[in-house]
Amino acid sequence: MSRFAYVNGRYVPHRAARVHVEDRGYQFADGVYEVCEIRAGRLVDERRHMDRLERSLQELRIAMPMPRNALSLVFRETVARNRVRDGIMYLQVTRGVARRDHAFPPPGTRPSIVITAKNHDLDKLEQGAAEGVAIVSVPENRWPRVDIKSVSLLPNVLAKQAAREQGAKEAWFVDAQGYVTEGSSSNAWIVTREGSVVTRPADFGILRGITRTVVLEVIADHGLTLEERPFTMEEAYAAREAFITSATQFVTPVVRIDGKPVGNGAPGLIASALRRDYHDHAEVV
Ligand code: PLP
Repeated sequence: MSRFAYVNGRYVPHRAARVHVEDRGYQFADGVYEVCEIRAGRLVDERRHMDRLERSLQELRIAMPMPRNALSLVFRETVARNRVRDGIMYLQVTRGVARRDHAFPPPGTRPSIVITAKNHDLDKLEQGAAEGVAIVSVPENRWPRVDIKSVSLLPNVLAKQAAREQGAKEAWFVDAQGYVTEGSSSNAWIVTREGSVVTRPADFGILRGITRTVVLEVIADHGLTLEERPFTMEEAYAAREAFITSATQFVTPVVRIDGKPVGNGAPGLIASALRRDYHDHAEVV
């Protein structure tokens, strides 16, 4: 099936989609992105993704490439043209194309925008969640502003590769104080022996995941005890359950951490219940 990408105002065949060699995204990773789930042909939590996009852009002093309602129409058109039913939409905005110079380009340089959408294999995702995933820990080596969803992802790329090479699905960054920050492309959670769900506060140390925000609502709805505080790897090794959250993986149980089984080594009850109910709480308009 042919795929299309939206590139700076035009829908072009995916294989022919191009950006300029002096795009600041390419030259400096000077841009931001969003990944939004598509379910039954509709965008999940679009409002929150749009809010986070605006915030990331503001923090980097990049203009919104177009008004929100226009962007929303392009989202829908891209999803429709790619005939996506269950999948993801990817959006990237950079500071635009300009002669290479680290400082900001001249005023009036238009931000570049690229949007793509593709189907994912829901059955495969479900199977992965039913089995649970392995994670490994890696030292935190990112800049302090990971609350901005920047395309500058080199430490995340290296962490994910380290995980792959150890047969794991995800890597958890551990800061200099010994606390887990988050995964290379997901937020990190544990459930203590006492049954409290623990996740790091969304300060500057992590990305405020949209899935994380929705899962906090599911936790409240289930009457579970939540502790929004940093946790150590020792706590993670001793946890009853662990899981990760992201728009592409929803809630996915973690069954091994650094080669050690979590709990009894099978997906936990709380993680599985949160996964089951997550979409009832996500916003679809
Ligand atoms: N943390 C990082 C570093 C991520 O890259 C992501 C998603 O890609 C998340 C957390 C989860 O965010 P969301 O739930 O909005 O997908």
